[in-house]
Amino acid sequence: ARPTARRGAPDSRLVVLAGPTAVGKGTVAAHIREHHPEVHLSVSATTRAPRAGEVEGVSYFFVDDAEFDRMIEAGELLEYATVHNAYRYGTPRGPVEAAIADGNSVLLEIDIQGARSVRRAMPEARLVFLLPPTWDELVRRLIGRGTEDSAEQARRLETAKLELAAQGEFDYRVVNSDVAEAAEEVVDLMQIRKASAPS
Ligand code: 5GP
Repeated sequence: ARPTARRGAPDSRLVVLAGPTAVGKGTVAAHIREHHPEVHLSVSATTRAPRAGEVEGVSYFFVDDAEFDRMIEAGELLEYATVHNAYRYGTPRGPVEAAIADGNSVLLEIDIQGARSVRRAMPEARLVFLLPPTWDELVRRLIGRGTEDSAEQARRLETAKLELAAQGEFDYRVVNSDVAEAAEEVVDLMQIRKASAPS
């Protein structure tokens, strides 16, 4: 049975999807976007340049460093982090708060530092850690997508080891063997009443 909507319980349906590099967070989020339009997918701001096929305002809000600084100063970001020691990424606060106020579920696909910041800002948020089926499979996915050179791949795998060690900080763990199944599991987690949440 669906829980009663708790209007005004500000973060009961805020779900954070995090996990190591190449585990498939973006693919799982894209599946949810396509099959669950009722879920509000947060669009992050980033200082990195758009890749081919990425659309302003859909993939990201692409901003320069000065604009990112301005957003931080103005308190417009719910959380932000420098990811892979390169570019800055942050979650615009306004759309998340508006969607929650409307009673919608909100999904943030962000990195692990960001997940920790959300935990501090909104303790009732549900933190989901996306896991690869095995370590070897994670390596295979990273190399297979071919978007990083071998030095960057090595760096990301080092980070991934540290990130995997952080999975115990999360409320839920979902293994991404099959994208559709993992996505449905994440959506299911939005519907259930969080065990530790006050009723
Ligand atoms: P990419 O540049 O490949 O799109 O994303 C790189 C990393 O940045 C991914 O791990 C992604 O989860 C993370 N990321 C994307 N948006 C945000 C955000 O708003 N905040 C944080 N902390 N990380 C983000």
